[in-house]
Amino acid sequence: MGFKANARKRRKATASTSGKSDVEKKEYVGEIKCDVAGCDNWADKKIGGRKKAYDWAVDVWGDSGLSSESRRVALCKSCYRIGKKHKKDEPDSWS
Ligand SMILES: [Zn+2]
Repeated sequence: MGFKANARKRRKATASTSGKSDVEKKEYVGEIKCDVAGCDNWADKKIGGRKKAYDWAVDVWGDSGLSSESRRVALCKSCYRIGKKHKKDEPDSWS
């Protein structure tokens, strides 16, 4: 009897854990970090992240504003938006 009660307890715990993970879905854990200095967002493609050429990003944030020096810079959704806004006045044909 004691064992049965224990099993029921465990099942309840499992159910509450899975319910909790539904809430935690909001806090996405990605694989690629945004390369803009001071930005803690994820830059994964599936959540709107982008990869842009280093030169493209340097024009927006400058050398010290980027935490990566690779030729391709990972940008989160909001940083990409900032960059796009910054570039708005420039012709797009060369890119
Ligand atoms: Zn960012």
